[in-house]
Amino acid sequence: MKVKITSKITKLQLNHPFKISRRASDAYREVIFVEIDGGIGEAAPAKFYGETVQTVASAVETLASALDENLDEIQDVMAGIESTLDANYAAKSAIDMALHDRLGKKLGVPLYKLWGLNPQKTPCTSFTIGLDEPAVMAEKALQAEAYPILKVKLGTPRDIEIIRTLRNVTDKPIYVDANTAWTPKEAVDKIRELAQYGVELIEQPTKPDDINGLRFVRENSELPIIADESVKRAGDIPALAEAVDGINIKLVKCGGLLEALRMIHVARAHGLLVMIGCMIESSLGITAAAHLTPLVDYADLDGNLLISNDPYTGVTLDNGKLILPDRPGIGIL
Ligand code: MG
Repeated sequence: MKVKITSKITKLQLNHPFKISRRASDAYREVIFVEIDGGIGEAAPAKFYGETVQTVASAVETLASALDENLDEIQDVMAGIESTLDANYAAKSAIDMALHDRLGKKLGVPLYKLWGLNPQKTPCTSFTIGLDEPAVMAEKALQAEAYPILKVKLGTPRDIEIIRTLRNVTDKPIYVDANTAWTPKEAVDKIRELAQYGVELIEQPTKPDDINGLRFVRENSELPIIADESVKRAGDIPALAEAVDGINIKLVKCGGLLEALRMIHVARAHGLLVMIGCMIESSLGITAAAHLTPLVDYADLDGNLLISNDPYTGVTLDNGKLILPDRPGIGIL
């Protein structure tokens, strides 16, 4: 039996143009929703990882041929998918998410319950401030009143000025994400200054493939260093384990919830901190990821908060703390 998969591309409009160190500012992002037998998943592909909504649509079509009627056996289904097509992890993630949603609905339980997790143990999510003029970033920080933790994008010649300007308007905890922009030496110098301003952690200071560079930064910095672009899947973790303090897991990088769970366990076995992050995506993808957060130290699940036309509702916030829906499956409406 051939399983029917339908997919639909949607434009998510951003509340503010969004900019990070390596990319020009965007006004909208495209995502793709995938439905399999009543379960629904989302892919928010990133060009940085070689995917677009078009590549996801065609990968999903190819991967549909690997699906048979045993959709409940997600471990086997995903192993079959892995052997059908290389990479294309955003596409695989959408399928994995749809299968989990389908199974949860079929069994009448939310995803967190499927995994035996305590929904009270979710962390607060951070709220991201994209790159802009320091004064504009400070204004955005003021508007982010509802969120108790800020994640600030850096990677410019004005990094210290930006954080100093933000500190004039807020004393909230700040995570910094340089998105690979710094050299190792520059990172050490900047982190020394950023620590004076009460920054709590640094995400991906340097180039993704330069593990020695990350190790140098870690050994010469007092703040925790979290790898993001350097780590996609569980197999990437052992080589990085001595070079960073933690990893940022994203469903579109790793290929879905099953692989994300594997990454959490591998990271813990190496004594690493775990963050779960996101792309700019709707409440569907954000809620799916949120179900894993009772297992992590940091959540950066704000993609749905940055858009104006979210087609779904799901996870909500209580003073920044993630509140999981207790409806079956992912639990979105
Ligand atoms: Mg990042």
